[in-house]
Amino acid sequence: MTSVPTLSATAPHHFRLHAGGALSEGSGGRRPVLSPATGAVIATVAEAGADDVAAACRAAAAAFPGWAATDGAERARLLRRLAEIVAARIGDLATLESAVTGRPIREMRAQMQRIPEWLDYFAGIILGLEGEANRVRGGFLTYTHYRPYGVCALLTPWNHPVLILTKKLAAALAAGNTVVVKPSELAPVSPLIVADWAKEAGFPDGVVNVVTGGPEAGAALVADPNVARIDLTGGTGTGRRVAAAAAARLVPCTLELGGKTPVVIFDDAPLEEAVAGALFSAFVASGQTCVSGARFLVHRPVAERFLAAFAGRAGRLKVGDPADMATDVGPVISAASRDRCFGFIEETKGTAAVLAAGGARPALPAPFDGGFFVPPTVFAEVAPDMRLFREEVFGPVVSVTPFEDEEDAVRLANDTPFALGAGIWTRDILRGHRVASAVRAGVTWLNDHHKNDPRSVWGGFGESGYGKENGWDALKSYLTKSSVVVRTAARFDDWFAGGTRYG
Ligand code: NAD
Repeated sequence: MTSVPTLSATAPHHFRLHAGGALSEGSGGRRPVLSPATGAVIATVAEAGADDVAAACRAAAAAFPGWAATDGAERARLLRRLAEIVAARIGDLATLESAVTGRPIREMRAQMQRIPEWLDYFAGIILGLEGEANRVRGGFLTYTHYRPYGVCALLTPWNHPVLILTKKLAAALAAGNTVVVKPSELAPVSPLIVADWAKEAGFPDGVVNVVTGGPEAGAALVADPNVARIDLTGGTGTGRRVAAAAAARLVPCTLELGGKTPVVIFDDAPLEEAVAGALFSAFVASGQTCVSGARFLVHRPVAERFLAAFAGRAGRLKVGDPADMATDVGPVISAASRDRCFGFIEETKGTAAVLAAGGARPALPAPFDGGFFVPPTVFAEVAPDMRLFREEVFGPVVSVTPFEDEEDAVRLANDTPFALGAGIWTRDILRGHRVASAVRAGVTWLNDHHKNDPRSVWGGFGESGYGKENGWDALKSYLTKSSVVVRTAARFDDWFAGGTRYG
């Protein structure tokens, strides 16, 4: 059993690449992994060079024919075995994920418990994948079958390193593809451990490969001639670059990109519950999820009361050590991310918007004084033309804007090029569903937020990308469907001898 190493600044653990079932150093040297909570180096990771990426793709290509020919039931068995391995080590995995991402341990324990569900789900539905057959005019039988693409490049971000990897990995492997994963350079550790566990579960060598590195390694991966399908979760700018590279080789891709999630609060919603939901939507993961509540649109009659309660609770959230079960909000991922958040804060302070909570660097004791902390920050009276209303912060800095009526709410919610998440709080059943269909979003929550399930499709449109995770859509996106046309008529209709059927 590969155990999960303890990460510490006193003895940083070193992790190696995973290609073809073997561990190796990368030709790019070593990259430090920082604790977002302290700024200290807590691990090092071998950095893949272009040669390592190419080698991993070759290993995945060599493993593909055997894996694709493996019966679906056997692929499902291995996925379920991996789910059991993950389930047995959830506590350790959560501790590691919290140390690397800075996300509070309470969050990571809850999220890691869900991971086996995605492995079990895709293990289940692959066995229910059915083709179709039709008898057609003129004496023909047509039938369809699915085939996997081959080597899939999975490019993942740092905010949910294991969850987002598992969503993609489970669908890709169930479908019979082999994968080369390129996790974020900021949080590459847990994907390397998942690759260890896949080997332990019995996946053949070369089926799961993980290379590390930054944008250069990602670019080398998407350009590799062995890669037949790409799946990226990342920023919209990265999405555009990856889509261009994919288009150059006509490789299909899924792009799960950024967002600027509106949360619409109507005056008929129970205020206390809407405030609690707003707080959860905005500040879990320090606001670093693609669907974080970012723009709170509040019905004028309750706007003042909502703001007082929301800002009051935001100001009382406990910011600090992610390893402490009592911590509500941890650091953001990096110094650059912290500086970007404070950039938004300082700029918005200079506008007509009103700072209602946060806004100043928290004073934390050593070693957390070296961490990348941003307090939950709320600005009220934010106008739609302000940068805080328009651009993704990817941190705990949110806006509150009043609206007059339903039409105004929908107009403000849709005043963005993104279309990923949306939240609606109302007790009016008619209005709830009406607004849900009017708001441009790939995932809309009515009276809740962030809830996610393997069966419920996930993915946006517009500048939030295209393609879906979860559900049959995700599984089928990892397969291409082919048809076979079989002549059953006894006589061939000889076209050049006066035959009558051309097509
Ligand atoms: P990022 O775009 O910086 O990086 C994502 C991954 O792409 C990383 O592995 C990175 O190394 C790689 N990469 C970067 N440039 C590349 C290039 N030119 N070619 C190939 N690969 C490249 O994103 P991030 O900072 O890790 O994550 C935050 C972003 O992800 C936010 O915008 C967030 O909204 C988005 N996100 C979206 C979803 C979703 O489901 N839609 C979920 C989580 C995060």
